[in-house]
Amino acid sequence: MRSLLIVLSLTVLASCSTHSNHESNEVKANPREYQIGAYLWQQTSGEYRALVHQAYNIARERVERDLEDKHNRKRAVIFDIDETLLDNSVGGAQEIKLGLSWKDNKFNEWVKSRQAVAIPGTLDFVKFLKDRQVEIFYISNRALSMFDDTYANLQAVGFPVKKENLMLMGEDHSKESRRQIVLKKYDVVVYLGDNLTDFPGGFEKTSVEARNALVEKMQSDFGQKLIILPNPLYGDWERALPTDKSRIDLLKIKP
Ligand SMILES: [Mg+2]
Repeated sequence: MRSLLIVLSLTVLASCSTHSNHESNEVKANPREYQIGAYLWQQTSGEYRALVHQAYNIARERVERDLEDKHNRKRAVIFDIDETLLDNSVGGAQEIKLGLSWKDNKFNEWVKSRQAVAIPGTLDFVKFLKDRQVEIFYISNRALSMFDDTYANLQAVGFPVKKENLMLMGEDHSKESRRQIVLKKYDVVVYLGDNLTDFPGGFEKTSVEARNALVEKMQSDFGQKLIILPNPLYGDWERALPTDKSRIDLLKIKP
């Protein structure tokens, strides 16, 4: 009923605009309309949940298998944070409802609110790692200024986090230098992330073609050492899209 009323209101508004010789603009499109389906998918679909559980089940199996052998070096797992352990979709959804464009995003305020929640399956997996004395590292490209809020949010949700193992972004956008710090003392069993740059291998590529070529080259690492989480909301895949064309023109319409 409500949607019918909205449709009727929009129709009336549109006809008013026509009859007043375009004195007023038509109903303003939401600048992030294109993301609504992605947000709904993450927030409501069983498919999203199933994929997340699938990723964490595979990660657990990999760690269990690794621990069957004796090792000289200590074991660690490296996590990304956003859309890997913490679900930020509520923050983005609020922005869409307010009609904010991507440029006007309020991610800083969202981080300060410390309201992000745990992604399904993550708390159990992290507890499993802790029980088996596997060291847990959090390497995120949240800015260093967000350290206290990020630490507090992770703790409040239930992730065991040591301050020295929470590595946010300083001058270096690439996560490689932070990974190298971990690798000096530990063997990393698996890397978990939602963005290719969460993984080693040189994924700091800029074009669609280069990113996809590298994924093909490293295909056997996925589901082994590299475990990827679904994130339809945002990511470097979006930054790789050419900006000189509209999104609809980028759609492939031939095989
Ligand atoms: Mg992320």
